[in-house]
Amino acid sequence: MARVVIVGTGIAGLVTAYRASARHDVVLVTKAELAESNTKYAQGGIAAALFPDDSPQSHAADTMRAGAGLCDAAAVDVLCTEGPQRVRELMELGVEFDRVGGELARGHEAAHSARRVIHAGGDATGLEIEIALLRAVKAVAVEVHEHTFMRELVVRQDAAGPRVAGIEAVGPDGAARTIDADIVVIASGGAGQLYSHTTNPVVTTGDGVAAAWRAGAVLADVEFYQFHPTSLAVPGNPLISEAVRGDGAVLLDEHGHRFMFDVHPDGELAPRDVVARGIAAQMARQNGRPVLLDATALGAAYLAERFPGISRVTREHGFDWATQPIPVTPAAHYWMGGIRTDIDGRTSLPGLFAVGEATCTGVHGANRLASNSLLESLVFAWRASDALDTEQLPLPSERRARLTEVTAEPERATSAVSRDAVQRLMWSLVGLERDLTGLREAAERLAGWHVDGEAIEDLEVRNLLDLGRLMVRAAIAREESRGAHDRTDFPETREEFEFSFEWVSPVHAAVPA
Ligand SMILES: Cc1cc2nc3c(=O)[nH]c(=O)nc-3n(C[C@H](O)[C@H](O)[C@H](O)COP(=O)(O)OP(=O)(O)OC[C@H]3O[C@@H](n4cnc5c(N)ncnc54)[C@H](O)[C@@H]3O)c2cc1C
Repeated sequence: MARVVIVGTGIAGLVTAYRASARHDVVLVTKAELAESNTKYAQGGIAAALFPDDSPQSHAADTMRAGAGLCDAAAVDVLCTEGPQRVRELMELGVEFDRVGGELARGHEAAHSARRVIHAGGDATGLEIEIALLRAVKAVAVEVHEHTFMRELVVRQDAAGPRVAGIEAVGPDGAARTIDADIVVIASGGAGQLYSHTTNPVVTTGDGVAAAWRAGAVLADVEFYQFHPTSLAVPGNPLISEAVRGDGAVLLDEHGHRFMFDVHPDGELAPRDVVARGIAAQMARQNGRPVLLDATALGAAYLAERFPGISRVTREHGFDWATQPIPVTPAAHYWMGGIRTDIDGRTSLPGLFAVGEATCTGVHGANRLASNSLLESLVFAWRASDALDTEQLPLPSERRARLTEVTAEPERATSAVSRDAVQRLMWSLVGLERDLTGLREAAERLAGWHVDGEAIEDLEVRNLLDLGRLMVRAAIAREESRGAHDRTDFPETREEFEFSFEWVSPVHAAVPA
């Protein structure tokens, strides 16, 4: 029996905690209320080849295509072949997916060649999953610490080299303390808060990825951030599902012109990236003001029944989307990059596992196929929970990668920075479209900033700063456009870049190969 500290209570952390509790002494740490996470806000659903007219091979082929040459085929195979059984087990844990006439209701999302996305509570899939998993975890022996912020990983030197031995945390009383562990599992999610428009809640500041980076773990694919085309243009940027456009809603500029047909022959139903960039370009032409999504033709009754969550959110912000177009903007949505893991959640650092959006398992490559992220969290958290007590190096990966050691920048005079300033810089220079001039400017400005203070907000902004710097470096290195990474100065995909950039800080040099 090992003492396992798990950081994060989204789907990845909860699945790991629930399953690991049967064999280990589990401590679960989360920085806000238990349910707060990206998971809670997931709308569309979870993809899995559950139906007789579908197959894991077909799901894998779609996933590989979306990943634009950078997926790890072995990881994708695990995702798609183990996914259906894991989803059935989720149902056994109490998640009630929506049904029509007794059969699972099947949704269709962009770039899936089959209707394989199942959903719960209409557009509340993530919330239903979160509630069921919290219920399951509360019924087993897990020690839970809410409002407890992981600040750093504790790394100790033993005979074999550095080993993660716990976390430094700040508790609800503001006091710092060390929580010892035989194994730490990072399940702390993505970093949408890098950007001024994001569908991710305020807790999503990449803390676990940044701490793992500082401790010497290998990160990969950090330049790839997926932007969702439509979020409501209000603080918090609630997501307006792609399905709304799929059902007939149209995009208008501020003069009422349906501009997407000027960009792509499929108009509003062009690929997600194209729509997101089309909207961003239109917003730039109208001085940053949002474009409009007109769903009025769908009718009040249909909108209320098909999209109850979105109807509620728009109403809460003072819009009646049945009678008026609503303002929308693209928003940072999902991070393909993160802590490099093998198919069992092992990282390059002994004693450290990682699961969920904080990782780069290799299943998404340069772009995520819609509704594959909940599945990735579920499948790989399940596998990690079985692997926690096997002490071995990460399994080799099938994909090509180039590892770079990043040495510390020389000290220079810097000025204090806020979250807002980091977000605005990342949005304007490291967002949907990038070029060398903008990226160099971003690198220069990020290098000139630091964060004073030890409050949680300061620690979060420091994490964003660390990750932003690395992301800019990776975006400069990738002199091509591929998947979600769009370089206007290198618009083509270049074969010589068909590999992943992996990054490690010099701390790692001490870890034996
Ligand atoms: C609006 C929205 C809609 C989405 N829709 C879908 C969808 O339909 N289908 C799909 O597959 N995916 C969807 N996604 C993506 C998906 O929700 C996430 O990728 C997935 O939920 C990630 O799960 P996770 O457990 O890795 O992280 P999260 O669910 O983000 O959980 C991270 C946890 O870590 C905690 N934490 C973070 N930092 C610290 C720290 N320093 N100390 C302690 N705790 C910490 C957080 O509080 C949280 O509990 C959506 C995402 C959003 C935002």
